Amino acid sequence: LIAPPAPSLADARATLERVWGHGDFRGRQAEVVTEILAGRDVVAVLPTGGGKSVCYQIPAMLRPGLGLVVSPLIALMTDQVEALKQQGVAAARLDSGVSMDDRSAIWRQARAGELDLLYVSPEGLAQPHLIDRLHDLPLSLIAIDEAHCVSQWGHDFRPDYRTLGRLAELFPGVPRIAVTATADARTRDDIVRSLRLEDAKVVVDSFARPNLQLSAIRKESASRARTDAAVIDLVRQRRGKSGVVYCGSRDGCERVAEALRAAGTNAIAYHAGMEARDRDRRLERFLAEDGAVMVATIAFGMGVDKADVRFVIHADPPGSLEAYWQEIGRAGRDGEPADGITLYGPSDIAWTLKRLEGRPMAEEVKAVQVKKARQLFAMLDGAVCRAQAVRRYFGEEGAERCGVCDLCLDPPAVFDATVPAQKALAAVQRLGERFGKNRVIDHLLGKTKDVQPWETALSTWAIGADTGQHTWRDIVDHLMFEGLLVEDPNEGKPLVRLGDPEAVRAVYRGERAIEVRAAAARAASAP
Ligand code: ADP
Ligand code: ZN
Repeated sequence: LIAPPAPSLADARATLERVWGHGDFRGRQAEVVTEILAGRDVVAVLPTGGGKSVCYQIPAMLRPGLGLVVSPLIALMTDQVEALKQQGVAAARLDSGVSMDDRSAIWRQARAGELDLLYVSPEGLAQPHLIDRLHDLPLSLIAIDEAHCVSQWGHDFRPDYRTLGRLAELFPGVPRIAVTATADARTRDDIVRSLRLEDAKVVVDSFARPNLQLSAIRKESASRARTDAAVIDLVRQRRGKSGVVYCGSRDGCERVAEALRAAGTNAIAYHAGMEARDRDRRLERFLAEDGAVMVATIAFGMGVDKADVRFVIHADPPGSLEAYWQEIGRAGRDGEPADGITLYGPSDIAWTLKRLEGRPMAEEVKAVQVKKARQLFAMLDGAVCRAQAVRRYFGEEGAERCGVCDLCLDPPAVFDATVPAQKALAAVQRLGERFGKNRVIDHLLGKTKDVQPWETALSTWAIGADTGQHTWRDIVDHLMFEGLLVEDPNEGKPLVRLGDPEAVRAVYRGERAIEVRAAAARAASAP
């Protein structure tokens, strides 16, 4: 018997055209498809909307055997499988909602070699009988969707994903492909190691999303009412358009949705505290109704494929640049212009860090998450083109300025605050890390009431009298965003402490320059 010739990229193109109606592969799809067709492993990091699914669907259709797709969410699976069936692709899913009869039919179809794609959840794969059945079948490939879920450093960690590494031994010789839209270098390493993809070709597409107009607005106070009002204004300016407003808590989500409805917007709240059925209904409304605005926690999003989302607003910032990019990335999937706007303030970073503190996880993991949160805030409060900052974070060296973000359109005045930063760090240190932000600033200004001789004797006393109080506030806040200073909650009276010692030393030595945006630049954009 002569083996049939291996399917070629030309065959794959023909399938893309015939089934999906797309003229050609785009971005780095062709590269990924070529690897899989040749039976090699791949880790593919392609942007949201970049067309990750066809990268494994087409090879699964062309290669002999069944393509196994591991997908984290039932809703996601259902959508994909329904869409495939409508296009005439032989696809099925096995999840808890599938009846015994249907299951038998699926396995019959698979044994007859009539099934190209089978979607399963990681929990499903944990069942030995499922593995046994798969062992009896030729597999064309194994695809692991949303592969970043394997990383405990990431924002979507799913412990079940950790067990997927054993697929390497269970199905030797079957090419495996892990796909995701967001993975920084560390997450990529984690995917390679945990999923046993050491020999995989890692294909990372550009993170550029030129149709996204990014901006960040600093909250001038921690007042919820003022943040809500700012969000309502932003949504009003986009009346009739569909969008997503992310809130940090369920309460906040209900409150903002209510306020938006009162302001005449078709706002729908969505969070994990609602029953699954209720959530599905809300999602359907969002997809179907014109100008619907989803006001949601992070429970909303993965796999939501609505092409014409015109804006994503973060009423509260997310936990990392990865989460930021993934959430913002839900806007403008159709390639038309869309806005990504993030509101952030000093109380948000304090809140983010406090929440992390309370999480039951290893210190090591926590430390990475704290660092990731700081990197996000440093970007938000920074002066570097936002798209450029994000792309650099994801390892794209040559990223150029986007030309459309708030910082490109209206470059803020910045001043060199390296020397004031040194003074502030020294003051916190001399004061023994025992005081709050305002008190530290008063000390720098030499304004402390009833000052004691021990304090005036410190070398940092009144060392910053040449700088105004508001400027000091901006500097100290910025040092917190950069993680050089840390607000340590102390029974409701936060104390300012020094941050990462290595970074602090670099500032003392003048090896790390500190740039702070001038107050005037911020005041103009403040809500
Ligand atoms: P994601 O990478 O976010 O999972 P999808 O696989 O859902 O993206 O694809 C997003 C959209 O892009 C889909 O409508 C898909 O049909 C379309 N698409 C995929 N590949 C191409 C292509 N080569 N040319 C044009 N459109 C494509
Ligand atoms: Zn820019």
